Amino acid sequence: MSSLFEYQCCECGRRYARDEVTYLCPVCSASYRSGMPLKGVLRVEFDYESIRRGLNPRRIDYTLWNAVEEDYFPPCAVGNTPFTRIDRFGALAGFANLWAKNDGLNPSGSLKDRASFLVAAEARRTGARTLVAASTGNAASSLASVCAAAGLECIIFVPATAPRAKLVQMLIHGARVLPINGTYDDAFRLSLEYTAKYGGLNRNTAYHPLTIEGKKTAGLEIFRQNVGRAPEVILVPVGDGVILSGVHKAFYDLKASGLIEKVPRLVAVQAESSDAIHRFIESGHYRNAKKPQTIADSISVAAPSNAIMARQAVLESGGFSLTVSDAEILAGQKKLAETTGIFAEPAAAVVAAGMLKLKGDARIDPGAQIVLLITGHGLKDPGAALGRLQLPRAVEPELGEIEKLLTDTIR
Ligand SMILES: *Cc1c(COP(=O)(O)O)cnc(C)c1O
Ligand SMILES: [Zn+2]
Repeated sequence: MSSLFEYQCCECGRRYARDEVTYLCPVCSASYRSGMPLKGVLRVEFDYESIRRGLNPRRIDYTLWNAVEEDYFPPCAVGNTPFTRIDRFGALAGFANLWAKNDGLNPSGSLKDRASFLVAAEARRTGARTLVAASTGNAASSLASVCAAAGLECIIFVPATAPRAKLVQMLIHGARVLPINGTYDDAFRLSLEYTAKYGGLNRNTAYHPLTIEGKKTAGLEIFRQNVGRAPEVILVPVGDGVILSGVHKAFYDLKASGLIEKVPRLVAVQAESSDAIHRFIESGHYRNAKKPQTIADSISVAAPSNAIMARQAVLESGGFSLTVSDAEILAGQKKLAETTGIFAEPAAAVVAAGMLKLKGDARIDPGAQIVLLITGHGLKDPGAALGRLQLPRAVEPELGEIEKLLTDTIR
């Protein structure tokens, strides 16, 4: 089952019936200029009163918050990723009740599968045959994978500099890949021009409102796996700010449905050079990031598409934001991998880096229940991690040689 809903503009508050709009608020988006955050991003507003009436708090039916009926879901196993306590990493960071939600274990290796899945379901509902997206890499590799399962055509605009493993994923799943000599922001603009002219359903993040609803399921799962309680704090990697908004939406739905009193405090973590949302949160004034250049390719963006909603989400939750350097990201990635068994790609490792940076910070109670949202798998970009590692030299297969190797290996 899924519930009745309307779309509501996060800027002007206007409401639209489900099939009255596809992408943005027609009024607010009229003033959108490419190269800036999107205007008039839509939020799904359920009929919370009828949800409350139909809800059994002892046996919660999570399909109540589905924005697309299950009949249209593609046959692929997205979500239901592990939620585990990570005490050894917690001890390093100085937090006693630390958890990881490992979304690197989705079919294509990132949380993006959740958005691709729901937009693909919407394509099946509305009869669209082709899905189109611009991506730094993961949204595209994810969409390619989901489209392969759903039997939909997939067209991808991606910066030519995307990590090779992500390009390989897109190609192996049979997507039409259009590498762009330019940035993610260029690819984003081009894909909008493409669907405006040639059609197809555009899955660009935040541009299609169901990307937020899809990503929301990570938050609903955290609540379910945490036996029906909201954690106190969640650290979220932030590029365009859609994952963050999705996690917020999960707890917004739960609160509006009467299941929780308070949404978790959301801590947005960005890369130092890709910090437009962080500065927007801190200052209240929006400016694009000047020259995003970070090892965390999945969160490298000059004009984050969902900046407005992401800022609202952090402020409403009583959270805050911070940035981490590339060196801190790589150190966080290594520490997380060594103490938890979780290999996170650099963009996902920003939350590990952020947690280490927040050691002793008065803004977070060291005993609070904190969740690190791990958004992507490290094998998507092994080159990034390799920079800090040393492959031991090869030796002859003799015990004496091995003993020599063991004594001169720098640990
Ligand atoms: C896309 C992505 C992010 C950032 O998500 P936004 O919605 O763009 O903020 C973080 N980590 C990984 C691995 C991603 O693929
Ligand atoms: Zn509007």
